[in-house]
Amino acid sequence: MRAARYDLVIKGGRLLDPSSRVDRVADVAIEGGRIRAIQPNIASTDAADLLDARGKIVTPGLIDLHVHVGADLSPATLLRDGVTSMVDGGSAGADNIDALVRVARAAPNRVRIFLNVARTGVATPGELLNIEAADVDAARRAMAQHREWIVGVKVRLSAGVAGDHDLEALRRARQVAGPLPVMLHVGQTHSPLPKILELLNPGDIVTHIYSPPPNSLLDEAGHVLAAVQTARQRGVRFDVGNGRNGHITWPIVDAATRDGFWPDTISSDSTGPGRTFRVFDLPTIVSKFLMLGMPLDRAIACVTNHAAANVTVFKDLGTLRPGAPADVAIFELRDGDFEFVDNVDAKRTGHRKLVASAVVMNGARLDG
Ligand SMILES: [Zn+2]
Repeated sequence: MRAARYDLVIKGGRLLDPSSRVDRVADVAIEGGRIRAIQPNIASTDAADLLDARGKIVTPGLIDLHVHVGADLSPATLLRDGVTSMVDGGSAGADNIDALVRVARAAPNRVRIFLNVARTGVATPGELLNIEAADVDAARRAMAQHREWIVGVKVRLSAGVAGDHDLEALRRARQVAGPLPVMLHVGQTHSPLPKILELLNPGDIVTHIYSPPPNSLLDEAGHVLAAVQTARQRGVRFDVGNGRNGHITWPIVDAATRDGFWPDTISSDSTGPGRTFRVFDLPTIVSKFLMLGMPLDRAIACVTNHAAANVTVFKDLGTLRPGAPADVAIFELRDGDFEFVDNVDAKRTGHRKLVASAVVMNGARLDG
């Protein structure tokens, strides 16, 4: 008997890979931790192991660009949702980055970090009320020390966090980031959004885009601000960041999407408490956007190839193309009546829900 050609074959699922415009039933062959082939029917005898995906959706492993991991929430918990790669969005700053790097290093999935420009990260909420907490030199030293893990800079600009010096905080975050992206948390800021957007580079990521006022992305007539559309045209990215409080309400999403303003990426802003309150998990948030009218392939792109495009070290991810790391998520797309909530607990009913059933990380399977 000859050895099997492939370590694992995922059989009979509906492949949905927006990076290759694939939406068809096919098998995925994995060997040596990489995707090796996508074919209509791979012989079972070619596989050392088989994963039956008939009736299920098979996507690239999900990428969540905005999570908070640590003592309250482990990366392994998110892996069971199909999240094979994530970015921690500012949990830690220069003073407490070492502990977060240990979490990233120990994780079974891929964790990278946006360093909070404030020295303490979110450990002391209101971390930028004293602007001197945004210590450019300390942040630069932390980045130099953890180059492998820190892939950008996070800054929270709400008035409750940054008072009336949101613009100065953002300038400092930009200074620290250099060529790397800044992820900025908007919503209820002191400064109007256009003033904030002016300071951004192409590739910077605005999170919590559907935040309610003050200073939402809408003008007084309820239309998306021209400055927001212009920023997108010049390469600024717009991310959901669902979270629990003050980040997304249905009326804001409705108004923005009526103007065609859909997100580039869908992220959860997951925390420990969010697992049972308003956030739940990334597949649930993707399902919300299906309810809101986003086509399935476009919603999946927001958590795969579009998310990968925002982080340089993720550029080979978010795809099922042969040669790519074998990160694969398998979902049921359930039909029924499902209740979804926004950040003020307004309920809406959707009729499709993605539920993770298995995940493959670097070629190794984890069945849910
Ligand atoms: Zn966050």
